[in-house]
Amino acid sequence: MYPDRVVSGMRPTGAMHLGHYHGALKNWIKMQSELPCLFFVADWHALTTHYDDPSVIERSTWEMLVDWLAAGVDPSQATLFIQSRVPEHAELHLLLSMATPLGWLERVPTYKDQIENLSSKDLATYGFLGYPLLQAADVLIYRASQVPVGDDQVPHIEMMREIARRFNHLYGKEKGFEEKAQEAVKKLGSKRAKLYNELRTEYQQDGKDEALEQAKAMLDDAQSLSMGDRERLFGYLEGSRKLILVEPQARLTVASRLPGLDGRKMSKSYGNAIALREDKSSVEKKIRTMPTDPARVRRTDAGDPARCPVWQFHQVYSNNETQEWVVKGCKSAGIGCIECKQPVIDAIVKEQEPMHERAQQYLDDPSLVRAIVADGNDAARKLALETMRDVREAMGLAYT
Ligand code: SF4
Repeated sequence: MYPDRVVSGMRPTGAMHLGHYHGALKNWIKMQSELPCLFFVADWHALTTHYDDPSVIERSTWEMLVDWLAAGVDPSQATLFIQSRVPEHAELHLLLSMATPLGWLERVPTYKDQIENLSSKDLATYGFLGYPLLQAADVLIYRASQVPVGDDQVPHIEMMREIARRFNHLYGKEKGFEEKAQEAVKKLGSKRAKLYNELRTEYQQDGKDEALEQAKAMLDDAQSLSMGDRERLFGYLEGSRKLILVEPQARLTVASRLPGLDGRKMSKSYGNAIALREDKSSVEKKIRTMPTDPARVRRTDAGDPARCPVWQFHQVYSNNETQEWVVKGCKSAGIGCIECKQPVIDAIVKEQEPMHERAQQYLDDPSLVRAIVADGNDAARKLALETMRDVREAMGLAYT
């Protein structure tokens, strides 16, 4: 039907740290060579929680973009853009809001969590309640097939799917749909048409998912169909509606979690972070002064890696051999903590070297980043406009 596509965004939080790199960016970099990817700076989302201090958003946006590029996000493979530069996200958000039950938003688990976690802020706003719907618009507007998420975000994707389904159900009705769909079946050629009808019956009467998948694969291969007929035939397989919005799938990311220097979640606000492009000497200093197992007061005291945040770094950065050396050396007091930390320092410095190199050109000439994003904004907007044309038409707002 629609081509496979990945959409993912990040709030502009300023310079990124290694927790972001291991938790999300590394995964983006892997995906960009596998599928068409759209990565965006979610500046409107930042406003849902920082509406009272928007001054940092623009600077944070540019800093974050340099970090993405430094980390290896490649603009020749992926589309990088800024959410608010594609205002159609807001239009789709508004249109979806007309038919989205309030209860769907209130039951999103992160809604209540965030209100409690950020209790210092007044988040009883319309924008904050609606942010999962804005997220849905961010994804649905590109008819994305996949959204990379951690476990905690799966309910958001589930809601996006429900929203797409409801939209198609409400607005996918087309006058004479049945007749048009049957005309389109004929265009498949007699052999394929017969197979299509058989698979459709198998799916609709017996609920055979394999039949649905097989029919979809056949439609993907059918070159002779126009876009409109293809959409109709996809919709006809499952019911009597055109599919205007695509239900995305959650793509679960198995990211390695890098904690902060004190073992808690890495966060700039906890003061326990290593920036993505941190200075070499500062990395050395931060790791050398990192807390270790409190039981190792003296060099001769044995320790336990399970109680030491340095060990969690080894789990991300060290191979089996080094990890065995750590466990043995720590438990027998055979190695000192400074000695134990050295391979971590070396690995981080090595990881960051190409990042510093890549970032330099963008720091020397910020117009390069502006140009990459301008191209990305245009490319994203083109796709968004295609979807909005169909959405407006389906909702009776085409005014042709
Ligand atoms: S030897 Fe390594 S793992 Fe053991 S307490 Fe020291 S830093 Fe932590």
